[in-house]
Amino acid sequence: MSSTDQNWDCPNCSESIECQFDLCWNCGTEMPAEIARNLSEIDAEVEEAAEEPTAKPPAVRKVATTMGSGLPWSVLVFGFCPPVGLVALIYSVLAEISRIHHQRDLALDYSRRAASWQIVAFVVGSIALLMGFLFLVTRS
Ligand SMILES: [Zn+2]
Repeated sequence: MSSTDQNWDCPNCSESIECQFDLCWNCGTEMPAEIARNLSEIDAEVEEAAEEPTAKPPAVRKVATTMGSGLPWSVLVFGFCPPVGLVALIYSVLAEISRIHHQRDLALDYSRRAASWQIVAFVVGSIALLMGFLFLVTRS
């Protein structure tokens, strides 16, 4: 509900006045205090509603912090494939540091990089395992 949609009736001449005017255009009577108070309450509600989008960053930040740095996964792939896993581990640690310093965008960026390197480490580690297995099989 917008306050500009509302009219008030002049107590002196009964003229209907748009609420953005606080004087009656017909007789010059001031808007009654009660109406003025109601309108300012409505305005406060409108402002509150308008402020809601700016109230969202904390929620976004919460998502970012609960998303985490993927550190446990990085440790896991580091054990699985140390050369590539180390990169994932470094990015996870950087994400963790950024998260502690409330650098949300940086933390998100690092955790995404960590996640990518985790996948690479997992794939490379799997190939290495498979090749090692094939080597053992063909040798015997
Ligand atoms: Zn009037």
